[in-house]
Amino acid sequence: MERVSSHVRPPSKRVIIQGIAEDNGLYVPSSFPALGANPFARIEKISYAARAVRILQPFFSDFSEAELDSACRVAYASNFDSPSIAPVKSIGENISVLELWHGPTLAFKDMALQFMPQLLTTALRSECQEDKIVILVATSGDTGKAALEGFADVEGLSIYVFYPHEGVSEIQRLQMVTQKGRNVGVCGVCGNFDDAQAGVKRIFSDPEINLRLAKSGYRLSSANSINWGRLAPQVVYYYTGYEAMLVEGRIERGQKINVCVPTGNFGNILAAYYAMRCGLPVSKFLCASNINKVLTDFIRTGIYDRRREFHRTESPSMDILISSNLERLLFELAGRQPGKVRKWMEDLAAEGWYAIDEEALSELQSIFYGGFADRLETLRAIEGVYKREGYLFDPHSAVGYSVLQKYREETGESTPTLLVSTASPFKFSRAVLEALGRETSGKDEFSLLEELSSFTGQPVPPRLLELKSLPERHTRICQKEEMAERVYEFLGLG
Ligand SMILES: *Cc1c(COP(=O)(O)O)cnc(C)c1O
Repeated sequence: MERVSSHVRPPSKRVIIQGIAEDNGLYVPSSFPALGANPFARIEKISYAARAVRILQPFFSDFSEAELDSACRVAYASNFDSPSIAPVKSIGENISVLELWHGPTLAFKDMALQFMPQLLTTALRSECQEDKIVILVATSGDTGKAALEGFADVEGLSIYVFYPHEGVSEIQRLQMVTQKGRNVGVCGVCGNFDDAQAGVKRIFSDPEINLRLAKSGYRLSSANSINWGRLAPQVVYYYTGYEAMLVEGRIERGQKINVCVPTGNFGNILAAYYAMRCGLPVSKFLCASNINKVLTDFIRTGIYDRRREFHRTESPSMDILISSNLERLLFELAGRQPGKVRKWMEDLAAEGWYAIDEEALSELQSIFYGGFADRLETLRAIEGVYKREGYLFDPHSAVGYSVLQKYREETGESTPTLLVSTASPFKFSRAVLEALGRETSGKDEFSLLEELSSFTGQPVPPRLLELKSLPERHTRICQKEEMAERVYEFLGLG
């Protein structure tokens, strides 16, 4: 592993424990393993877990095969409601939908967060850590629950989650505030996701806070997608998605596909790019945004400008103006010159914007397309696909679909495309029902779930149904300046 900002190369166990480098830079792999287009040769019939081991081994070379094997087997098992873990559904028009929401929290964050706790506990054991690890999370809605679910009651760790109060859906909120576990805490922040994320970053980089925690035997780590342990497992499903397209006869081995990803913090789409760097045949990456379209503008102009109004949308997990993982792509675009990236990140922090150079921009545009969908387009995509194909998208995935259609209209091409679906439609039933032309005002979340169920004939996922009867355990709300205080309080350092 290597740091964006320097050439320090710690082993991956250290990197996962640490989360982020001391200077706030992100870790990236020192090089990309040549996995090629066919890493599963001669192991066609094996499980997702075994495939994950094959892909992940070169990225975690300081873990033993037995350690990785056991982590993957625990992570990708009956905790998912589909035996293929990440099934692919064809919906016509050369579109294969990669469903990443069959885990316990019904959104794609489970793909990494069911795995990462196994990885982290293994790393902690072999690094002989004395400190108790405190995982701090800022969430735009789905990461929080997925991290709580992954880390609840894991030995030697505790987890504290900050979510934007009033910035998440009611189901997302209930999923978090009802979380059980000895070692979990949750707090709403008055502000948006960027405020929560900035607050968490501040805590990480504040020497005084870290010293105070260290004195009591605590050490901070992160489960956000800035942690390499979150990102790497996401490379796996691009390979299994490609494999499924092959098996379905959609493509020939070695044929290039496009990948379309509804994007927020740029983690998921970056994992697709990393898969390509390992040899997965990808032609274009379609980066889909909602009207918080800072990435669309960036890909089109080379100027990243966060100085704009923040909008709350029906795809809240993508309501983000600072896409942290873009830093990692910039590092590659800049030919791995840390100085350039550091300058851009400093400009962003100080001025709220930066412009990349011509060379990096043309490299970016040769492989990335940026597009966005507004509310109406998103709802129309849900309705249209349901009517034509009988397939139901959640709003995030519908943003992806809408951008894919725009891309095809603009370019006239119809390359087979892996469209990433990031959440179950039931998780966002209000918006989905509105899209289908149903009256939703004045109805509570649970009657909406029932209504969506009877409309589609699909059962309400049990994990959502049970939220109705679970007590709200975590009722704290705080100002963004008080986040460190809340962490102290949680740890009993009051
Ligand atoms: C987190 C999330 C996204 C955005 O993913 P990034 O990796 O942050 O780009 C999209 N859709 C859903 C449902 C999510 O939970």
